[in-house]
Amino acid sequence: MERDAPEFEAPSDEELAAEVPRFRKILFEEKAKLLRNAQRTLTEDMTLDQDDLPDEMDLATADYNQSLAFRLRGRERHLIEKIEAALERLEDGEYFWCTSCGAFIGLKRLEARPVTTLCIRCKERQERRERAYAS
Ligand SMILES: [Zn+2]
Repeated sequence: MERDAPEFEAPSDEELAAEVPRFRKILFEEKAKLLRNAQRTLTEDMTLDQDDLPDEMDLATADYNQSLAFRLRGRERHLIEKIEAALERLEDGEYFWCTSCGAFIGLKRLEARPVTTLCIRCKERQERRERAYAS
């Protein structure tokens, strides 16, 4: 992949490796928050049979969270999928790099939008294209 000239100097591999645990934590917390919200939405759904409500043990298992995520619709599910993908990229060492042009995305930008896959320039380009299609 060809890389555009970076807007700013990317940290060294060592520096980025040191950032991985921090972003892993940010992403896990985002996901936990979404799952908690989803849980609330589902349990408030009056069509849900009382027997279907999870007990504490269910809530503690990853399997349950998995099936819960599967039952989610719309925005929350979409966001959780994005977080899963971001965690995968983080483990693969691809997280800090734009999936479109390969440029360094930037730590500040990733802190603000932990699931982003694009550098700011590609994001702006994408938004311009979307606006062009929409009009
Ligand atoms: Zn880019």
